[in-house]
Amino acid sequence: MKFQKILITLVFSAVYTLGFAQADRCGTDQSDAFMESIRENKKSFEATRNKARVERFIPIQFHNVGTTQGEGRVNDKDILKALCLLNERYVGTEMRFYSVGINYLDNTNVNDNPGGNQARTAMADAKNPAALNIFIVSDAGTGVAGYYTRNLDIVVVRKNTLSDDRYTLEHELGHFFSLAHTHRGWDQIANGPGVEQGGYDPMIHGDTVTIASVSSSQSGSTLIELMDMSNCTTAADEICDTPPDYGFGFSCSCCRMIYDVWDRNGDKIEPMIDNVMSYSNGCDPYRFSEGQVTAMHTDFDSNRRAYLRTNEVDQYTPITEEATILSPAGSEWEEFNGVLFDWEDVPNAESYLVKIDGALNEQFITTESELYLEILEADATYFWFVTPVSKFGASCGAEEVRIFTTGSGTTGLDEIENITNYSISPNPSTTGNDIRVFLTSEINMDAAVSIIDISGKVVLTQNENLNSGINKITVESASLISGLYIIQIETEAGKITDKLLIK
Ligand SMILES: [Zn+2]
Repeated sequence: MKFQKILITLVFSAVYTLGFAQADRCGTDQSDAFMESIRENKKSFEATRNKARVERFIPIQFHNVGTTQGEGRVNDKDILKALCLLNERYVGTEMRFYSVGINYLDNTNVNDNPGGNQARTAMADAKNPAALNIFIVSDAGTGVAGYYTRNLDIVVVRKNTLSDDRYTLEHELGHFFSLAHTHRGWDQIANGPGVEQGGYDPMIHGDTVTIASVSSSQSGSTLIELMDMSNCTTAADEICDTPPDYGFGFSCSCCRMIYDVWDRNGDKIEPMIDNVMSYSNGCDPYRFSEGQVTAMHTDFDSNRRAYLRTNEVDQYTPITEEATILSPAGSEWEEFNGVLFDWEDVPNAESYLVKIDGALNEQFITTESELYLEILEADATYFWFVTPVSKFGASCGAEEVRIFTTGSGTTGLDEIENITNYSISPNPSTTGNDIRVFLTSEINMDAAVSIIDISGKVVLTQNENLNSGINKITVESASLISGLYIIQIETEAGKITDKLLIK
C-alpha cells in the first residue's frame, strides 16, 4: 500500500510537471452566498423547462487588459476567435454570445493582480452595465486560470486560457449563470499528504467514501452527493442530473475515472466526467447536462440578469468560412506604393481584420472586402492574413497566411498633375465582375471613366467626382463580354489610359 502511494505520487508529479496547465484551478467562490442564485432560480426551473426552447442572446463586453504602459495585451483576433469557439461550444445550449466591443484597459494592477483592491475599483469603473463583462488578464492569481466573482459580477480569465481545450472561459460563464462545480465541496481538498491537486484520494477517503460532508474555503461545508439521487437537490452542485463527482478529474488527463469508488450506500460512483463544470482534464469536447442548461436559462431570465436582456440582437449569424484571397495573387507585387489586398466577401462578415506583418506590423479594420495601401516599402517582404468578423466573433478556423514581396516599381503618374497614384483591380478580370479603380488625388476634381473596345467604340462611360485622398471608383463592367479593352480616365489635368483584359 505504501509503495503504491509513493508510486501514485511520483506519477502525479511527473504528469503535473509536464502539463503545467493541469495544475491550474478555478478561483470561483462557491460558498452559500454564491449558491443563493441557483437556489432562488430553482423556484422557476419548471416554468423555464416547459417554455419553448428559445435562443438567448447575451451581450459581452471584453476588456483586453494590458500594463499601464499599454503593453502585453492579447491580439483582438484571439478574443474574437475565443468568442467563436465559445459559441460553438455552447451551441446546444441555445445561448448565443455576441460582442458589444473590446475595451483596452491599460492598468498594471488589473493585469497582474485583479483580486487586489485597486484593481477591483478599476474593474468596477470599467464595467459595461449592459453586458456580461470579461476581463482578460496576465495573472488571475497563483495557479488560477479564471474565476467569476459574484461581488463585481464579472468574469476574469487569464490570457493563455483563452480558447484552451479545458474550456476555461466556457466554465467561468457557467459560474456566471449560477452553476457550481459538479464536484462542489471537493474543489480544494489539497491538504492531505500526497494529494497535490485536491479531490478524492483513495489513501485518505478509502474505496468507499463514508464521510457525509466535505469542507473547503471555496465552498464551505458541503454535503457529499449520493448515486441514488436522494440528496441531489442539496448536495454538491444541487443539480440532480449531474451525478456525484468527488473531484475525480484531477486523477489523470485521460477524461475517465482511474479509481473504483463507492458511496456510503454501496453504489458505485459514475460521474459525468466530461462535464464543463468538472475539473476533468483531456475531455474536449465537454458538455453541460440538461439540468445545467435549464439552470443557466433560468438565470438569464431572472431579475438579476435583466440588464443582459437588451433585445438588440435576435438572430444568430456566426461566420463559418474563411476568406478566399484574390490579391495579391502571387508572391510578388510590382509596385510598392499601391498594393491592393482583396478577398471574396464572407457570408455574415460585418468587418474584416487585416493583419500585415513583416516589413510592417499593423492591423487594419475595414467593412469592405479590400484594402488599398500606399504605405508599403519597395523590395520588402510582407506576411498578411484577413479575418472575417461578426458580432459573434471571428471565424473559428485558422486563416491562410500569405506572403509577397514588393518590387521597386511605382504607380506614380507624371502625365497628370495632381494624380499621384493609380491602379486597376482586378486586371485581368472575368466577365460578370465589376472593376475597381483606385486614384489618389491631391485636389478635388471631376473625372470621366470610359471603357473602349478594340474597334475604338466607347462601350461604357461614368462620371466621377474625385476627392483629395484615395478614391475608389467601381466601374460597372459586369455586362462586358470577354476581350481586350482600353480603360481611360480623363480629368481636366490630363488623361490616363491603360489596357484592361476581361477573360
Ligand atoms: Zn469553476
